[in-house]
Amino acid sequence: MGIQKLELLYEGKAKKVYKTNHSKQYIVTYKDDATAFNGEKKGTVLNKGVVNNQMSAILFQLLEEMGIENHFIQLLNDREMLVKSVEIIPLEVIIRNVSAGSMAKRLGLEEGIPLISSVLEFSYKNDELGDPLINDDHIEILGLATKKEVEIIKYTSLKINEILQQFFITKSLKLIDLKLEFGRYEDKVILADEISPDNCRLWDLKTNEKMDKDRFRRDLGNVEETYQEVLKRLNK
Ligand code: 5GP
Repeated sequence: MGIQKLELLYEGKAKKVYKTNHSKQYIVTYKDDATAFNGEKKGTVLNKGVVNNQMSAILFQLLEEMGIENHFIQLLNDREMLVKSVEIIPLEVIIRNVSAGSMAKRLGLEEGIPLISSVLEFSYKNDELGDPLINDDHIEILGLATKKEVEIIKYTSLKINEILQQFFITKSLKLIDLKLEFGRYEDKVILADEISPDNCRLWDLKTNEKMDKDRFRRDLGNVEETYQEVLKRLNK
């Protein structure tokens, strides 16, 4: 029997997750809705959902080939993918290669400075609290993940960062930073969520032009065109 979309399980700012007739598979629908600054800024980016769905599919497949297990099963259509029914761990794992965004602000650094080694940060995925920065001890006392899981998440995130950095260079893009989320599935911790210009900072390799959601966050213009351009480069 084919896959059938059943009830809505969860609706986030940019995606919806549906149950299916298969207990271990969900359908993710990518929306065009865009939010920033913890929902304070709202808008729509035409066909962002299509780009993010297709870009995530390309990158999840690349990572699987490189031995990084993730929730992607297959693309269903322009805006939807079939994924494994992971239980999301409420952590945002941020890996940074170049200073930007909240870290630049917090540490008083100029944006665009290459970091001598990659920086890994954890945020507690909690909208009410504004996704606060936390460390391993906070993860432990909040019971968000075990020590072993945190170890796997850190090791895997750094490996993903290396694979993606090298891949993006071949597409004339520099991976400045990215946010990852992981989930539990069949006794394992695997990569989940999405990998798109919504949760990666990507700068043009030659001009340093911003090719990601900062165009929306900072009102830089050409938001739709930039998302399309990133997907075009990935498909080349
Ligand atoms: P920053 O902490 O500098 O705002 O973000 C660092 C990186 O993580 C950026 O690539 C940004 O897009 C991503 N990121 C941080 N928080 C979130 C979030 O709540 N949602 C999404 N989609 N991406 C985030």
